[in-house]
Amino acid sequence: ISATFTPYYNAAGQIEGLVVVLQDITEQKKLDDMRKEFVANVSHELRTPLTTVKSYTETLMDGAMDDKEIAMEFLGIIDSEADRMAFLVRDLLQLSRFDNKQVLLDITDIEMNEFLYLTVKQNKIHAEGKHQQLSFESYEKDVVIHGDRDRVGQVVNNIVTNAMKYSLEQASIKIYITEDDIYYKISVKDTGMGIAREDLPRIFERFYRVDKARSRAMGGTGLGLAIAKEIMESHGGKLTAESEYGKGTTMTMWFPKKPPELPCKEV
Ligand code: ADP
Repeated sequence: ISATFTPYYNAAGQIEGLVVVLQDITEQKKLDDMRKEFVANVSHELRTPLTTVKSYTETLMDGAMDDKEIAMEFLGIIDSEADRMAFLVRDLLQLSRFDNKQVLLDITDIEMNEFLYLTVKQNKIHAEGKHQQLSFESYEKDVVIHGDRDRVGQVVNNIVTNAMKYSLEQASIKIYITEDDIYYKISVKDTGMGIAREDLPRIFERFYRVDKARSRAMGGTGLGLAIAKEIMESHGGKLTAESEYGKGTTMTMWFPKKPPELPCKEV
């Protein structure tokens, strides 16, 4: 709370009273802190790969160039660090477009049984590489949602990729559809490491990772779920998570059955 004191005077110039203004600045301070933390995070996430690029380049220039095998290895590292920076910038730009309400959706009817069947087919090869079972149980009836195919695909892929990343070999990842009166719900359930109760509400925050080093090593930017949440909200829906630490996680995408007013592209 901030307080300002202003005295007021009578005709004779004597102080007659004091005006005290009390202001609750907690909300403002919270926003300010969040902004500062975000800038610190962006700087850190960019500086880490830059430092690596710089040191490998210097080592190459200092003579490592002469050994072709080592040179190729170092160039490979530089290349992947450059990719990492590019992914980060791509994700930051997408978030900033949501922040500035510049995202226009290309809305069509999407039949989710067909859409999820295709998504699973595309991701199967990655799951098999980790000996994980990825499956989709088709729903008993047609499920048509109103959405932007590319963006909805981005959310599903992000959640499925996370399910694979944060689960060990042999894990099972199941995708299924349910519904209530208002929403169609698409869930991705994994038997992976799970998320502790205190971390769960924070995973949608920008750059929040339960295990920073581990997640970074797996190539994520820490922005995937923040973007996925924005995409779901821009579709008039939401994204939720349930989890039991050590047992597994279920992420659910909620799509309103009734087509909402959406920021569409002009046709
Ligand atoms: P990242 O690029 O780090 O994967 P995300 O925004 O996609 O970033 O996810 C944020 C964090 O949430 C991850 O770092 C991870 O700690 C946690 N997380 C997301 N999905 C799962 C999951 N299926 N199981 C366990 N932890 C998860």
